[in-house]
Amino acid sequence: MPKFIDIHTHNQTTEENTLKIVNAPQSHSFSVQTPNLFSLGLHPWYLDKNTIENDFEKLEQSAKNQQVVMIGECGLDRNIDIDLAFQTDIFIRQIQLAERLQKPVVIHCVRAFPEIIAIKKKLQPSIPMIIHGFNNNSQICEQLIEHQFYISLGAALINPNSNASKVIKMIPKEKLFLETDDKNCTISSIFALASAYSNVPIEILQEIIINNFNRIFSNQNLET
Ligand SMILES: [Zn+2]
Repeated sequence: MPKFIDIHTHNQTTEENTLKIVNAPQSHSFSVQTPNLFSLGLHPWYLDKNTIENDFEKLEQSAKNQQVVMIGECGLDRNIDIDLAFQTDIFIRQIQLAERLQKPVVIHCVRAFPEIIAIKKKLQPSIPMIIHGFNNNSQICEQLIEHQFYISLGAALINPNSNASKVIKMIPKEKLFLETDDKNCTISSIFALASAYSNVPIEILQEIIINNFNRIFSNQNLET
């Protein structure tokens, strides 16, 4: 049984005692068996109107693979030069794909939380939706909790004054995940920080996150 679950990472190396969901590059070959699980999606940064139909078709094909357990990261980003309407359209299509495949969605969101919440309200997908790398204020955190999002915290916890470090206590434990993303840190160090800020012993935190993992993947037989 793994001690640590890293719900979102870009680091493909396998680690002892760790179950990780690796965000696969679009070109990833799923023919090779690895102990890692994968998420696959069209990241808003790399959306291209000229290739989108082809890219989406490829995603639809690869996403059926059993090693792909989540769709994403996908989402909305206000800090980039790609128009938000196009981003929204592709995000919605990925949620619909996730719903068809009954796989959770891992979400990248920069300055577009009201839009993400509105989309969830409108579509009402049955699949879990995880906001990854959350590092925003308590009002936004509250709204996400109210709308049943899962919230994943990562390297922002290294800074004790970050939003992530401040809001961790308000996130219901059954909605919490932890991650390393593309940062140069270990998931065990993120667990240690989360344990300290939330006043939950690390063994209990490990159990909580394993339970959350088992719950969101109960239909995919991934139980740890
Ligand atoms: Zn990422």
